[in-house]
Amino acid sequence: MKKDKILVIGACGQIGVELTLALRKMYGDANVVASDLREEHELLKGTGPYVSLDVMNKEMLHVLIIRHNITQVYLLAAILSATGEKNPLLAWHINMQSLLNVLDIAKEENIDKVYWPSSIAVFGPNSPMQDTPQHTIIEPTTIYGISKFAGERWCEYYNHRYGVDVRSLRYPGLISYKSAPGGGTTDYAVEIFHEAKEHKKYTSFLSENTYLPMMYMPDAIRATIELMEADASKISVRSAYNLSGMSFSPKEIAAEIKKHIPEFTISYEPDYRQQIADGWPNSMDDSLARADWGWKHEYDLEKMTADMLKNI
Ligand code: NAD
Repeated sequence: MKKDKILVIGACGQIGVELTLALRKMYGDANVVASDLREEHELLKGTGPYVSLDVMNKEMLHVLIIRHNITQVYLLAAILSATGEKNPLLAWHINMQSLLNVLDIAKEENIDKVYWPSSIAVFGPNSPMQDTPQHTIIEPTTIYGISKFAGERWCEYYNHRYGVDVRSLRYPGLISYKSAPGGGTTDYAVEIFHEAKEHKKYTSFLSENTYLPMMYMPDAIRATIELMEADASKISVRSAYNLSGMSFSPKEIAAEIKKHIPEFTISYEPDYRQQIADGWPNSMDDSLARADWGWKHEYDLEKMTADMLKNI
């Protein structure tokens, strides 16, 4: 068992619950402190230490990190893309200040490693849409994307200037069944499974041919841990790595679900989230992650659909 002591901030969210459980398996239950604004998630109860924390309160965060001898921080608290568009100033404030609080304390306390996720939302309508490269035009148009891009620059800055070992991935839309999504533009790809099972029909808020990069949660958790476990000499990108699993449209996922539930039907009523999706890549080129630290995805649309329908 390793001696690291880990703090997960935003542990009750879609990623946080599964990441906390995976880290507890690796590092020992007592060595992974989960924290969130919300009440402890049902799936976390009884599995290890839980602390109520507002990451915006820098002093409280600092005390917590010292008191628990924290050596690694995973910062997952954020306002996501769709919710962010409803209150842009709040999204900017929370997404930026939470990261700056963590990076600054990491610098002061010589924290070993920091993880903070970026997103495909850093890209905008002027980026190439197919196989979007790691280095290309980056002109995000949502406040979420703007905050993620600025966050990437801060991560690189703290690494280059102060030597903080911060690592990041540009997650695609994440699909999971254990904890609910938190207000993103790719949430349809989770809702569709629940509605297919319960009501045999679904109305998509994105149009039928909207292709977006997506990933099944087990792949995202493994990518996160593999990046954090990689030798520092292998990490050539200190902003955030492109990460890719699969790419599909609402029409394609519906067709895949129909193979399991023949009576399933889909209709389309695009709303404000269509515009957000239209500015994002259709698919991502993650060859640098594959070359630097050996990233390899496991789940495609077919394998993920079968697993989701089995487990929901
Ligand atoms: P989520 O909304 O499901 O969870 C975020 C958690 O942070 C929530 O439990 C919330 O209560 C908590 N939180 C919010 N404000 C807080 C505060 N002030 N102090 C402490 N906790 C606070 O989000 P998620 O989907 O788990 O995303 C985690 C990270 O991954 C975010 O940075 C997000 O931008 C990024 N990301 C997610 C996706 C995705 O598809 N889920 C895709 C790309 C990037």
